Amino acid sequence: MLGAGGQRNQRKAKGTMDFAFQRSYRGPLKGIILDWAGTTMDYGCYAPAVVFVEVYRRKQVPISIQEARVPMGAHKKVHIRKISQLEPVAQRWETVHGRRPTEEDIEAMFQEFIPLQLACLADYADLIPGTLEALKDFRGRGLKIGSTTGYTGDMMKLLLQEAKRRGYEPDATVCATDVPAGRPEPWMCLQNAMQLRIFPMEAIVKVGDTLPDIEEGLNAGMWTVGLARTGNELGLNEAEIARLPADVLEARLAVARERMRQTSAHYVVDAITDVPPVLDEINARLARGERP
Ligand SMILES: [Mg+2]
Repeated sequence: MLGAGGQRNQRKAKGTMDFAFQRSYRGPLKGIILDWAGTTMDYGCYAPAVVFVEVYRRKQVPISIQEARVPMGAHKKVHIRKISQLEPVAQRWETVHGRRPTEEDIEAMFQEFIPLQLACLADYADLIPGTLEALKDFRGRGLKIGSTTGYTGDMMKLLLQEAKRRGYEPDATVCATDVPAGRPEPWMCLQNAMQLRIFPMEAIVKVGDTLPDIEEGLNAGMWTVGLARTGNELGLNEAEIARLPADVLEARLAVARERMRQTSAHYVVDAITDVPPVLDEINARLARGERP
C-alpha cells in the first residue's frame, strides 16, 4: 500500500523524473592542505630516503636511493614493507638471509628507523625557497592551512618546532599515525577539514610532491596540485639540480610531470611558489559550478 509520499512519487514519475536539481558550491577556496618533505621543507625529500637506505644496509641488504624513494608518501612502516616487496630487493634479501623478508623483519626495521629518522630530521628541515612568500599569499586569501605527512607523531612534533623557528606554523597537522590509515586513503585530509572546520571538500586544495599525496586529495574529494621539481619525483636538492645539464633536467621533469598527470592531479607545477595562480584558476572553476 502506498502512503501519501508514494502516491506523489508515482505522479512525479510520469513526467518530471528526467531531470533533478543538484546543489553546487560556487564559493571560493577555504583551505589548502600541504604535505611536508618535498613540498614546504627538505628540498628533494632526502630525510626519509637516506634513512631507508641505512636501515636496509644494517640488514646487509643494500638498496639504492631510487628504490628507497618508490613508495614515498606512505606511512613509514608501510613504506618499509613496500620496499621489501620490490622484486629486486626481495631477491637480494633472499640471497643474504635465505628467505623473503617477513612481517617481523619489517617491524624490526621500523623500530630501527624511528630513532635514526628522529636523529637526522632537523638536518633536513630548511624550508624550500619561496615557501614563506607562498604561505603569505595563502593567508592573504583567507585560506586555512592544514598539513598531512607520512611521518609519525613524534617526528612531526620535532619538525613542527623546526618549522616554527623558520616562520612556518600551519593551522592543523595530521600524521599517518593519527588516523586508521595514511595515504592514499583520505583520512588525514578529512581530519584536517574537521580540525579547521571547513567544508565542503571541494573548497579545499591538497598540494604534495608524491603520487600518494595526489591520491589522498582525490580520495577526499579535494582539488589536487602535484609538485614535480622540489620533491621525491625528481629526488634532487637545489645544488644537484644546478649541476644538471638543462636538457637532462627538462627530460626528468617531463617524466615527473607525466606521472603526476597520469595519477589525475588537477594541476602539476614545479614548486609551491607556482601554486598561487593555480588557486585563481580553481576559484574561477568553482564560481562556474565545477567540482574537483
Ligand atoms: Mg612529501
